[in-house]
Amino acid sequence: MLNIVLFGPPGSGKGTQAQGIIKKYHLLHLSTGDMLRAEIAAQTKLGLEAKTLMDKGELVPDAVVIGMIENKLDNNKSVAGFVFDGFPRTVKQAEALDALLEKHKAPIKVVLSLKVGEEELTKRILHRGATSGRADDQNETIVKNRVVEYRTKTEPLANYYAAQGKLKDITGEKPVEEVYASLCHEIDKVNTGSTHTH
Ligand code: AMP
Repeated sequence: MLNIVLFGPPGSGKGTQAQGIIKKYHLLHLSTGDMLRAEIAAQTKLGLEAKTLMDKGELVPDAVVIGMIENKLDNNKSVAGFVFDGFPRTVKQAEALDALLEKHKAPIKVVLSLKVGEEELTKRILHRGATSGRADDQNETIVKNRVVEYRTKTEPLANYYAAQGKLKDITGEKPVEEVYASLCHEIDKVNTGSTHTH
């Protein structure tokens, strides 16, 4: 299986790049942000609880997102692989993901870390907020809080994956196509299994 983590701050291009990658390598896109927004749209209990935190730019509890990911892994056993986008966001989540993938005998092959500076991030997110309809993209205080959450809780994960020898830094402040080419280049280096010829 070709399992890839797209890692990076909010606004670094994870969602956009995931679209190209899943098409090219025939993978399933797993975005916990998208899953949570679907729960909110369906007005489930989980969605309503998550919304209060998301509207403040805070992370939802680890158990909630780990549970959602576990469901997806259990229900998609025959796919060529997964692109994790916006998950894991804490060391706890990363440990849980490793344990789940161990169960499926399909570890993460590579963690692609998109590097984008603070100023550019805020600009991009507020720009996206004009059309995305996402409340958490429209308010500068919330956007700043999401970046703080990222720096304090998520960025330490880079060390976790670097220690496993899986972390690849990619410059994210370039045209979408150039970033995409760099990502594919790194994926091709690790994609030596059977999915390559599909
Ligand atoms: P995203 O679409 O990835 O930017 O996520 C939007 C919001 O959903 C985040 O600001 C968090 O409140 C919540 N969220 C998404 N993924 C996670 C995660 N893996 N852990 C905790 N909260 C998450």
